[in-house]
Amino acid sequence: MTGKLSPEEIEAKKRDFDENYKRVLYNISEAAVKSGRSAGDIRLLAATKTVDVAVINHAIGSGIKLIGENRVQEYLSKKEELLSCEFHFIGRLQTNKVKYLIGNAAMIQSVDSVRLAQEIGRLSVKSGLCTDILLEVNIGKEESKAGFMPEEIPEKAHEISEIAGIRLRGIMAIPPVSEDGGESNREYFRKINKLFVDMQAQKLDNSNIDTMSVGMSDDYAEAIMEGSNMVRIGSALFGKRIYF
Ligand SMILES: *Cc1c(COP(=O)(O)O)cnc(C)c1O
Repeated sequence: MTGKLSPEEIEAKKRDFDENYKRVLYNISEAAVKSGRSAGDIRLLAATKTVDVAVINHAIGSGIKLIGENRVQEYLSKKEELLSCEFHFIGRLQTNKVKYLIGNAAMIQSVDSVRLAQEIGRLSVKSGLCTDILLEVNIGKEESKAGFMPEEIPEKAHEISEIAGIRLRGIMAIPPVSEDGGESNREYFRKINKLFVDMQAQKLDNSNIDTMSVGMSDDYAEAIMEGSNMVRIGSALFGKRIYF
């Protein structure tokens, strides 16, 4: 991550980011307008795993307001050097690592068990805080993916919304990898949107269901057109990753 790139390489990555960022913003606003909304209704989360802190800070300086990391260790290694911005955790989370995120992560998007939600709630209460969370749904019912099964979502949303110290904000998903740049994922996005709208209709206590976090580099336009209001974009902003 850090310290691997030469100053020239860092400068080249910053220039790449500048180009990519313009294109991504354009595509987001185009998809938003096509879906009857405005660009301001869609939040862009920059997924910064494997990205050098100098490049992340350049992105923040250029207008990125929200970043997401998916490994606790990697986040902690960058944290001290990061410019101020909103941080969300988006990766698989073990309960014994929750303590590093409380007070740091404005939102934990990848809640995939009641036990994890309870631990986030317990440690938040202990710190006098309330942590925003999303429920991750395994929309493609894939063996390799984390998340609740789609049919469990209403019941789990109800159960989790009752836990002190957390506030349920909505739903997050990583649909199956698509071969055709997102078109075949529209069906998944529609299903996720239905779960999101149904969750809003549940009128859960202590909740504010306003976030559907779906859409990555290859499919964010389609996700927005199917109702997503938060896209998590890595490689389309920072270039292809060599690992992960
Ligand atoms: C890496 C990652 C992303 C971004 O993926 P890209 O395809 O590079 O845009 C989004 N969400 C999660 C949870 C990720 O781990």
